[in-house]
Amino acid sequence: MTTYVGNIVAAATSIFEGMSITFSHFFRTPYTVQYPDRMPIRVQDTLPYRYRGLLEVDLEICTGCLACLRACPIDCIRIDTHKVKETKQTILDRFDIDLAKCMYCGLCSEPCPTGSIHHTREFEGADYSLESLVHRFVKEPTPTYKPKKTGEDDPVIAPILERGKRYVGEFATAPKAAPAKKVAPAKKTGPPDKAVAAPKAASVDKGTADAKAAPAARAAPAKSAAVPEKPETVTESSAEGEKE
Ligand code: SF4
Ligand code: SF4
Repeated sequence: MTTYVGNIVAAATSIFEGMSITFSHFFRTPYTVQYPDRMPIRVQDTLPYRYRGLLEVDLEICTGCLACLRACPIDCIRIDTHKVKETKQTILDRFDIDLAKCMYCGLCSEPCPTGSIHHTREFEGADYSLESLVHRFVKEPTPTYKPKKTGEDDPVIAPILERGKRYVGEFATAPKAAPAKKVAPAKKTGPPDKAVAAPKAASVDKGTADAKAAPAARAAPAKSAAVPEKPETVTESSAEGEKE
């Protein structure tokens, strides 16, 4: 009988404890947010500057150099160009990025000389078909951009180029390498043990060589910040255009 009553009391206590926790949530500020329509500000605007969201291409400053296409490790980018014989002007016929494949690694935007291809902070790319995730930036054949030696004076293109260069300088350029530490020479503490000393010296040499080589290797992408005077535009389609 005592056990029976004890079980009833334990069950009632357990229910009361559970319900007290449940009721306490009626008076707490909710932690959840009702995305996307009841946010005080857009989530995109709260993301950090270097966030790698959906890719965008400013065709106004695309030189057609194909550096982005070559840099993409999984062939997301497709660019077709042809050259007009009379004017020697390169025309962009296609600039597609398959965002269904894209892994947002940023490798394509790093070598872009003008910052034409760049990440945005936009991330809502859901769609109903894979085909619609292929973003086609060229709506009609568009002449490629030719950098001017004297600087851009077109009031429409100048701010776009300014944004692109800022992007390349601040976002797409690799951070500066830390100065290499000097390796202190080993102290002589007695007769050298050849079997031990030889591998040690070799490892110090290799480390020093690697440290020297590192800044040179990392400095290479900085070249991309400079705008090339003449775009490299040899593609299959352009070659075919010349034959015709
Ligand atoms: S972000 Fe990476 S995967 Fe996507 S297009 Fe650029 S290089 Fe290719
Ligand atoms: S200018 Fe930039 S976006 Fe245009 S083809 Fe070259 S790397 Fe790609």
